[in-house]
Amino acid sequence: MNNSQTLFNRAQKVTPGGVNSPVRAFKAVGGNPPFIKSAKGCMLMDVDGKEYIDYIGSWGPMILGHSHPEITQALKNAVDNGTSFGAPSQPEVELAEDIVKRVESIEMVRFVNSGTEATMSAIRLARAATGRDIIVKFAGGYHGHADSFLIQAGSGVATFASPDSPGVTKGSAKDTRIAQYNDLDSVQSLFDAEGDQVAAIIVEPVPGNMGVMPPVHGFLEGLERICHTHQSLLIFDEVMSGFRVHPAGAQGRYDMMPDLTTFGKVIGGGLPVGAYGGRKDLMEMISPSGPVYQAGTLSGNPLAMTAGLETLKRLDDSVYHLLEERSSQLSTGLLEVLKKTGVQGTVQRVGSMLTLFFHAGPVMNFEDVKTADHDKFSRFFKGMLEKGVHLPPSGYEAWFVSAAHDETVINRTLVIAEEVLKSL
Ligand SMILES: *Cc1c(COP(=O)(O)O)cnc(C)c1O
Repeated sequence: MNNSQTLFNRAQKVTPGGVNSPVRAFKAVGGNPPFIKSAKGCMLMDVDGKEYIDYIGSWGPMILGHSHPEITQALKNAVDNGTSFGAPSQPEVELAEDIVKRVESIEMVRFVNSGTEATMSAIRLARAATGRDIIVKFAGGYHGHADSFLIQAGSGVATFASPDSPGVTKGSAKDTRIAQYNDLDSVQSLFDAEGDQVAAIIVEPVPGNMGVMPPVHGFLEGLERICHTHQSLLIFDEVMSGFRVHPAGAQGRYDMMPDLTTFGKVIGGGLPVGAYGGRKDLMEMISPSGPVYQAGTLSGNPLAMTAGLETLKRLDDSVYHLLEERSSQLSTGLLEVLKKTGVQGTVQRVGSMLTLFFHAGPVMNFEDVKTADHDKFSRFFKGMLEKGVHLPPSGYEAWFVSAAHDETVINRTLVIAEEVLKSL
């Protein structure tokens, strides 16, 4: 038994499923997960000394690569100043200013500790601001694990083929409506029925938690129009897409102005951070300037803020240009090897997020993803892992390219992908 297996056995005795987030357990693809000892650039090293090219990137945060030397140094310096104060500090102000400067729709922002907290707080605010209860989300869209969202959720839950989670009360479920992504009619009919009771639509503007699917032309604008007509709020959940697909997030890429936005992942630079923000009149309803309660012992933590600041600071146009080039090299290369090996598949990409679906394509929504060949994905995943490429362990996930993935590493990935596809 190798060290990863030993650790996984130990973990399973003391932690549910041996992991602290379900997808890590490899249930969707089978096998045991390697336990990671260290990471550098685009590489992971496991506890048995095996190296992998990493396309998980901690599910998005590691956009500049792992253990970036300057960010690591900044964190070391921050540690010397104390790790948590429970009182305000300068880095919180600087990161907030940076976000407000980059994103036109955001005048004020509040930091929390995870994407889940951000979306949960954003819908509380939307409900308070509108005096309405219903929220509309999309099938397969993932907004963290708060009760209101665990209604036909994607990602881990979809992987386990359980549309609901036990423990979510009927009361929470009754205020959530599900529409189909990229299908404005499905949204319109919900609003025709009860538009005057809808507090908000929450949407991943570029879904990544059911695999990457670009919004069709006019879809996001249509959501905005429907929200305006019914005085509902539009919430962009940019926990994944924020500062990943454009210097101002998906809303910058598609030139949109949502009422509220949630962030996470990249803005924490690999430390636990979430945030929600938007127009001043809405954000001023949050405690202590307004009545909507929301708090956090470790919110705005100086280490987490430092990691976020140091990451955002380096995300300039040249980095996004580089990410675009490298990601395009990977997606076009994958399409070529699919063609060469005669395996049916499609690659969908927005910026440095992409998914290879074993599906003829296009994959427009959750119904389409379900019809992809997920058994084939498991075999592909295992083959890739064996040969040293660590993909996300489910066909419902996005792959992440970082600025540390160079041409050589991507070419090596493509050579390995060709070998594995041939053997499927
Ligand atoms: C990851 C993610 C979340 C949840 O964030 P956590 O930090 O895991 O709680 C919410 N929404 C989207 C779009 C995400 O990708």
